[in-house]
Amino acid sequence: MTRETGAVQERVLGEILIRNAETEYLRRFQLNGATDRDTFKSKVPVVTYEDLQPDIQRIANGDRSSIFSAHPISEFLTSSGTSAGERKLMPTIHEELDRRQLLYSLLMPVMNLYVSGLDKGKGLYFLFVKAETKTPGGLLARPVLTSYYKSEHFKTRPYDPYNVYTSPNEAILCADSFQSMYTQMLCGLLMREEVLRVGAVFASGLLRAIRFLQLHWQQLAHDISTGALNPKITDPSLRECMSKIIKPNPELSKFITQECSGENWEGIITRVWPNTKYLDVIVTGAMAQYIPTLEYYGGGLPLSCTMYASSECYFGLNLKPMSSPSEVSYTIMPNMCYCEFLPHEPDAPAVSRDSPPQLVDLADVEVGKQYELIITTYAGLCRYRVGDILQVTDFYKSAPQFRFIRRKNVLLSIDSDKTDEAELQKAIDNASALLKEFNTSVVEYTSYADTKSIPGHYVLYWELLVKDPANSPTHEVLNRCCLAMEESLNSVYRQSRVADNSIGPLEIRVLENGTFEELMDYAISRGASINQYKVPRCVNSSPIVELLDSRVASVHFSPAPLQWNPERRRC
Ligand code: AMP
Repeated sequence: MTRETGAVQERVLGEILIRNAETEYLRRFQLNGATDRDTFKSKVPVVTYEDLQPDIQRIANGDRSSIFSAHPISEFLTSSGTSAGERKLMPTIHEELDRRQLLYSLLMPVMNLYVSGLDKGKGLYFLFVKAETKTPGGLLARPVLTSYYKSEHFKTRPYDPYNVYTSPNEAILCADSFQSMYTQMLCGLLMREEVLRVGAVFASGLLRAIRFLQLHWQQLAHDISTGALNPKITDPSLRECMSKIIKPNPELSKFITQECSGENWEGIITRVWPNTKYLDVIVTGAMAQYIPTLEYYGGGLPLSCTMYASSECYFGLNLKPMSSPSEVSYTIMPNMCYCEFLPHEPDAPAVSRDSPPQLVDLADVEVGKQYELIITTYAGLCRYRVGDILQVTDFYKSAPQFRFIRRKNVLLSIDSDKTDEAELQKAIDNASALLKEFNTSVVEYTSYADTKSIPGHYVLYWELLVKDPANSPTHEVLNRCCLAMEESLNSVYRQSRVADNSIGPLEIRVLENGTFEELMDYAISRGASINQYKVPRCVNSSPIVELLDSRVASVHFSPAPLQWNPERRRC
């Protein structure tokens, strides 16, 4: 496949256009049966989620006609990308599961080229399902991994010595995140000598597991010592399954107590799981902020990023999975979907409909250039902008390899949340309404994703204009501003805060007056133009964060649980 990228891509597009020729969406563009690339490119527009939303809404409301796909829509995958504050709904078809599984099935054969003996032990993977809902028309809406773990493809997978997990299916499939994490950790501890690799999907997930161990090792050690499962594990099928795994092991319990009770957690993963050969977590893109912490807990174990995927489609894999995070490139598999690339020049004007963008095919991208990924999928997305910016680093045979540069418009991210500038501004507007009665306004702000603590949290730096110092906003009011901001952030953020506990309470640091002027002076001293200077709405360089932190006048945290439930606020 990688030898014939161009031909495979042509075949994929042809297959998609033949099968979906009679769909309402493709008929709109009058392809008249054409399945060639030129006709497709000249007639079908490049679109965003918002362009498709009215049609997606019809499907969500129960319209079963062939809108995007000739195959029935089996469910919606809820992306961590949001639109109007809610997760995007990606219609999918049943056979996409086969494509996802195909990509998964390539990971271990590739890894086996670099790390031997992985069939002689187990993988400790922290994998979770999340809440699912039904759309008004009765289709399930859930994250792609939840859909995969609940599928027969995963649940009844044949035995494969290279893919034996310490976590039983019952633990992975338990919807209660505490019970799921607890039992997965317990199994990992019980089988510590057999564990050859430790992982989660994203770096934030693995760090959450380490934090969980810090908080709960005493109870876990107690269970291991007595052989009796913590009564907080109430799920009957999980209890039954764990009863077959847990046996009293006072010696192991003593070891865990000894390792976990110390102050120093450096290298804890290698101490508790001494045979671990690598950590399997994605640390590219937004997750790069966790590399130093993972290196600390992992005692320098290699970090392996194996694949690049999304709810819309699984794209490809890292053919050199032991390369260091800064060197990671993903090879897009030409048979997953039809890919096009919009050259990305950061300073170029935005794409307009009057001058259609010149998109490049997968086989024709150029090394060194950056592109935005645009996909056409079997499930019926046509020329859809995923929102990821990729840079070509090399070719494997004729298949290009890409470094993940960033996702467009993401300002802040801790877990799978992605907050953009507009969402942040709206949250500030909502929160600052609480300051009106104190005749106070937010004159400048910036933000910072603080990942030094686990879980990480959003920090907002505010400079206030207090017109009546005798009646300035109280500590409680500013705490409530934190909550008001959180309440208006998107549903992925709120779910991470409420259901997953993977983001900590939002913090506002009120700055001394004049701090943002100092920030500007700093930027100008580093060469910024005084005319064009704009306050960065997010900061991440340490000198800037240090400057801001040295001017903090007061600190405030979100005081109360915020609202989130799986139902969408608007569909
Ligand atoms: P979702 O829509 O929730 O499935 O998230 C998919 C998005 O996660 C992609 O479009 C990327 O922005 C990001 N992502 C997925 N895999 C990787 C990876 N290996 N490295 C960096 N970012 C990734």
